[in-house]
Amino acid sequence: MAAVEELSRAAALHRDALVWDSHACMPLHPDADLGALARHRAAGVDFVSINVGMDMNPLAQILTTIASFRAQLERRADLFVAVGDARDVERAKALGKLAVAFDLEGGVPLCERPEMVRLFYDLGVRQIHLAYNRNNSIGGGCYDDDVPLSALGRHIVRAINDAGMLMDCSHTGYRTSMDIMAASRAPVIFSHANPRALADNGRNIRDDQIDACVATGGVVCVNGVGRFLGDPEARTEAIVRHVDYLVQRVGALHVGLGIDYEYDQGLNDTPPGLDRAHWWPPAHGYGPEGARIRIAAPEQFPEITAGLLDLGYREAAVRSILGANMLRLARQVWRPRAG
Ligand SMILES: [Zn+2]
Repeated sequence: MAAVEELSRAAALHRDALVWDSHACMPLHPDADLGALARHRAAGVDFVSINVGMDMNPLAQILTTIASFRAQLERRADLFVAVGDARDVERAKALGKLAVAFDLEGGVPLCERPEMVRLFYDLGVRQIHLAYNRNNSIGGGCYDDDVPLSALGRHIVRAINDAGMLMDCSHTGYRTSMDIMAASRAPVIFSHANPRALADNGRNIRDDQIDACVATGGVVCVNGVGRFLGDPEARTEAIVRHVDYLVQRVGALHVGLGIDYEYDQGLNDTPPGLDRAHWWPPAHGYGPEGARIRIAAPEQFPEITAGLLDLGYREAAVRSILGANMLRLARQVWRPRAG
């Protein structure tokens, strides 16, 4: 009986709370079917940010993907709300639909032009990090020499602040991330990165990066990739353990979720001639070409809610972690639409 009550309490809280997934991946291909995101909605997720490009993707691939995704969000208004500002997320929640925004993984698609930030904002991008695993002209990636944010990078951070886009430090090198967090005028997030104290991978972040993020008013969102959880099976217990580490360190108001689920639809979205070992170095645990690693599934979202309640978390803290923290940042950072 007690177990049944616990279960229904978790289910009721999960249904009522705003649930925000800070990062998921569709194939970067105009033929990708966003309808698959119904799995996110069925798992009680109200908002998801989907990737539209990384540093290694040609601009033509990124733009055709964005065009397709925008068209699909419009066409499937029964399922989706395309996000302009934070109010759209609340509207989606009230209507039982999934709010969708885009994110860019790396600053190369900006073509070294700060004004490109605003163009991507107008196309629906609401979150960006500046380097994907490797160094570029803006700054350092997490699997490369540890370089500072460049002079160009400083201009781009300013442009991101001015545009009202969320500044993200996932995949970024240590020094560059610390420079970004010192330079940004707005809260900075880690949309999908885990504490290195629990899993030693270069993609995970040190305690002082976590503290610096929180000092900006930001949020660290836990990633569901087995390799970064230190659990090849990507079990919910591991996600909850990472959440709890962060909560113990910085409090429940600065922790969120960015599970990083990859929808595989059998489409080839690999740019011709891509050097996989350069972007995903085997020395950091990446398998041979095509090797699949386990990533937590959207269906694990309700289990996260139950797991946090099991740890004795108060409902208010669970709501913060599930989505209220990220909604607070969206209200603070994204430019409200007129009207
Ligand atoms: Zn990523």
